[in-house]
Amino acid sequence: MPHYLCHEQPDLLEFETSVVDARPGAVLLARSALHPGGGGQVCDTATLKHAHGVAQIIGISPEGGRYWHVLDAPLELAGEVHVSIDAQRRSTLAQLHTATHILNALVYQHFAGALVTGAQINADGSARMDFDLPDADNDALRALEGPLNDVVRQSLDVRASYIGLREAQVTPGLIRSLSVAPPPTPDGTIRIVEIDGLDRQACGGTHLTNTAHSRPLRMTKIENKGRRNRRVRIELM
Ligand SMILES: [Zn+2]
Repeated sequence: MPHYLCHEQPDLLEFETSVVDARPGAVLLARSALHPGGGGQVCDTATLKHAHGVAQIIGISPEGGRYWHVLDAPLELAGEVHVSIDAQRRSTLAQLHTATHILNALVYQHFAGALVTGAQINADGSARMDFDLPDADNDALRALEGPLNDVVRQSLDVRASYIGLREAQVTPGLIRSLSVAPPPTPDGTIRIVEIDGLDRQACGGTHLTNTAHSRPLRMTKIENKGRRNRRVRIELM
């Protein structure tokens, strides 16, 4: 994973840049503050103004270390462009991503280090997490809705930092899931997201800077997925 501009400048939602390569319906930009998605989180979307009009960036396709921004029309663009990221979608994804870390921490505490086996964070305000919990009582999982919202109200700071891959690998609990942990950056570091006093784990997603910036959450469903896995669905109220 490269160092994303969206992590270095999380408030940069509008920027000027230029098209460095194009094919019908997709562009490579000289720089981009869109999060490309990954680790279960869907990508940012944006409005792109070009010399002849306006297009929507509706997806991002990583190909060989380059991030093709997929357009909503088969245009072949060139030149300077102005990009406006969909701020509401970014905010929804950040709220949900932070909520999944809170939920992950609560499950990890209440169910003796249970691991995440999958996660999906959607732009419609819903998310799901799968946990390896062969013996869990679903009602005990459901009871975490209160503590989840308690943490939101506790107004805990959320911070990101980078540490060496080796340190990440030998620190228990830091790499919570192989399926959602980010790959190391080219300089051999891995991004760590910390919710003050609650949770610290490797993550490449977008987050709030404080839990209190989240709307309250509802646990909508708990399902058994096979013998070992429990799928917990949450949504923003
Ligand atoms: Zn994460």
